Amino acid sequence: MNNQCLCGKKIPFLQCCEPYLKGTAIASSPEELMRSRYSAYALGGYGEYLLKTWFPPMSSGMTAAELSKRTQQWLSLEILGSGSKGPDGWVEFKSIYQVKGVNSVMHERSIFSLIDGRWLYLGGEVSYNR
Ligand SMILES: [Zn+2]
Repeated sequence: MNNQCLCGKKIPFLQCCEPYLKGTAIASSPEELMRSRYSAYALGGYGEYLLKTWFPPMSSGMTAAELSKRTQQWLSLEILGSGSKGPDGWVEFKSIYQVKGVNSVMHERSIFSLIDGRWLYLGGEVSYNR
């Protein structure tokens, strides 16, 4: 797949998020992890990856099969800010998605934690607006 990555970085998918989704590289920052998780949602079929990068107590009850479904079409990702301090990281982003032809904006501030050398998604504060 030579297309530009869906995460908005304007570089080819195979040089961007694909190595993370395939498990051949580990995201070195909360922002990289966030971008790769966005790509996983946008592409569909990467439920295993989403589970693997989710802090287990926060993802209990979710299945890879469910997370692999594309329930909406993700159109774009814009990172508003990100950072980390020791094992704590955050990313603030806006993404636009479409359900049944209607575009919506999701604005989230996500929290990440570095555990055993891997950044994991803990959760986020979300607000939605049209
Ligand atoms: Zn990417």
